Amino acid sequence: METYDLPELFQLVASYDRSFESLAYPKTEQQQGKADLTAESWAAALGDIPADFAKSVVVEHYRRNSTSVSTSVIHREWVEYRNQQIQKAESAEIRAKRRPSAEESLRGWERATAALLEARGQDPDEAIGDIRARRAVLQVKCPVCKAPPGRGCVVNTGRRIQPLSNNNSHPSRFEAAGIEQQRPTLPPRSREYREEIPLAEQPPVAE
Ligand SMILES: [Zn+2]
Repeated sequence: METYDLPELFQLVASYDRSFESLAYPKTEQQQGKADLTAESWAAALGDIPADFAKSVVVEHYRRNSTSVSTSVIHREWVEYRNQQIQKAESAEIRAKRRPSAEESLRGWERATAALLEARGQDPDEAIGDIRARRAVLQVKCPVCKAPPGRGCVVNTGRRIQPLSNNNSHPSRFEAAGIEQQRPTLPPRSREYREEIPLAEQPPVAE
């Protein structure tokens, strides 16, 4: 609060409390001098507390008390208010951390997949580009095997229907999605990776 904010505050206080009347409405030179001095000392004590906040404390104070308001009452309320604000901000931050957005969890999934592919000797940027392309292709229905959006392409071996090798999509499905077909990016697979590939290439479940 600034010194020039104080006369208005004193007038508000005076409307509840007659002992502030000469500060709010000084009639003599002596009263004016005292009012000026008090305004300065209150401004110093209230520091950066906004005038509107101080006014709301005054109103609240006289709702509950018959004793006079003081700078320490206003200051105490301000400290409490600030602490509450900090706590709110902190708990909002914690909540935000606990619940990553869909976009964030998708990025997390991509990072995890890229790390896996990188471990197998692939360029992670290329791998992520590949994953994104594959996901975009999955958004359209396959014109060849009729796999619906979101489902992988299948091949009918005559004996049974199974996913296309490498969980790939039919070339026409790339075309239908307007995506340039990826060259085969997976290095020759050894048996031990066989179980990991479908997991890594499974897009996260849409919420
Ligand atoms: Zn297909």
